[in-house]
Amino acid sequence: MRFIYMELKEKQLLRRQAYINGEWTNASNQKTYPVKNPFDRSVLTEVPDMAASDARKAVEAAHNAFAVWKKKPARERAELLRKWFLLMTEHEQDLAQILTLEQGKPLDEALGEIRYGASYIQWFAGEAMRNYGDVIQGSGPDKRILVIKQPVGVVGIITPWNFPNAMISRKLGAALAAGCTVVIKPAEATPLSALAMVWLAELAGFPPGVVNVITTSLPGPVGKELTTNELVRKLSFTGSTQVGKQLMEQCAASLKKVSLELGGNAPFIVFEDADLDAAVKGVIVSKFRNAGQTCVCANRVFVQDTVYDLFTDKLRKAVRNLKVGNGLEADVAIGPLINDKALEKVERLVGDAVKEGAGLLEGGKRHALGGCFYEPTILTRVRHTMEICHQEIFGPVAPILAFSSESEVITMANDTPYGLAAYFYSRDYARIWRISEALEFGMVGINTGMISTPVAPFGGIKESGFGREGSKYGMDDYLEIKYLNIGGVEAGC
Ligand code: NAP
Repeated sequence: MRFIYMELKEKQLLRRQAYINGEWTNASNQKTYPVKNPFDRSVLTEVPDMAASDARKAVEAAHNAFAVWKKKPARERAELLRKWFLLMTEHEQDLAQILTLEQGKPLDEALGEIRYGASYIQWFAGEAMRNYGDVIQGSGPDKRILVIKQPVGVVGIITPWNFPNAMISRKLGAALAAGCTVVIKPAEATPLSALAMVWLAELAGFPPGVVNVITTSLPGPVGKELTTNELVRKLSFTGSTQVGKQLMEQCAASLKKVSLELGGNAPFIVFEDADLDAAVKGVIVSKFRNAGQTCVCANRVFVQDTVYDLFTDKLRKAVRNLKVGNGLEADVAIGPLINDKALEKVERLVGDAVKEGAGLLEGGKRHALGGCFYEPTILTRVRHTMEICHQEIFGPVAPILAFSSESEVITMANDTPYGLAAYFYSRDYARIWRISEALEFGMVGINTGMISTPVAPFGGIKESGFGREGSKYGMDDYLEIKYLNIGGVEAGC
């Protein structure tokens, strides 16, 4: 096993084992798989390549721990979450470096993700103490009705590689605050961030079995265990719509509660009355962050025809300033794509659009750095019939379409099975209301390209899934409602 030497202040954050029932552990078959740096494909380390039997052990540990964890006073759960948040903050630089090494995003962005991820733990430390019920007027004079909320039980958590810390902490904060215990299966490509944050959870003092992590290069068997084992009462999944549907089907036999945070195809609309410089900044942050590999990425940029040329010119200047390179280098804004498959997909979608008549205003090919790098790209003269408008690009490519009226752009924007995020720029109040209400998406950014925050409900509609993460609604997905009907209560004096 080889470690790339890194200047981590806390070297124990780099874990080479999975975590079951409070113990750092190898796969029962002793197999491992390599975790690679997408920058140069070098091997960072090896982690256990676990099987369904390991996942079963983790589920059993989580089930046993649930009996105790659910009874803890909310204040104790809140205190542990708070300690964990402080530890994540204390070690944020190390966590960011690990994240960049395994995922490729620029270090500043990685640090932003660690802070964003930690903010969910902080938020749910507070929410843990606000698990309120209701008192409802009785159905008869001698009746009283109470509603209480109780934790669902063991939660299976499956997450993608594009936000290796935050996609997990968004779920963990809510699940643990509610009193659930968890088994996490991080993405094959990015297990190190998950293991590092769970090491900090151990340090914070979470009891054995409350948090477990299974690493594997074969998601099928482990996923099957988490979706079919009857001890698991809920699945919380973030990833592609295709895999989400498959997992939901697997959960059907035991009727698990399911939350799905799936793919997106966000429209980004620039109206002629918009502040165009602000809109350019919005596209840069929403389209090019994480090299375009985010679920809420602007996937289609619609610009009103009267400002089309002016806007594309401004955008071109901004995109030219984006430095491409190793995420650990200073000033780098765009890192590599996660792997060759992702690179080939971007190449294919751009090639298809150009063949169909799109113009290449900027970029349009693999970057001279080689590896998994792709040039920041702007496509003009894009038509909505092109495939690039109907697939998640997941790369640093902005297709720009022209439109002339509100109704035309709304029809195109909603013409997708996805319904995660949408953005638009306008300074007209009446238009802001009209467009906000007409967009069929779970989240709408108005004059902003950044919508993620722990205080708001993150989630989609249509084939982008269901369930909400963060905010006062976030814990609901991990709670069952129980109602108590108390009879025989004498009328008062
Ligand atoms: P993915 O292929 O669906 O994988 C997501 C997770 O599911 C990974 O841990 C993966 O394991 C696992 N998985 C794959 N096949 C499985 C199976 N048969 N059984 C059980 N688990 C399985 O998605 P991805 O390519 O990693 O991530 C990109 C997708 O996630 C995009 O569609 C993006 O929009 C979406 N996403 C959505 C949100 C949101 O909040 N809505 C946030 C981030 C990303 P392996 O890694 O081993 O394949």
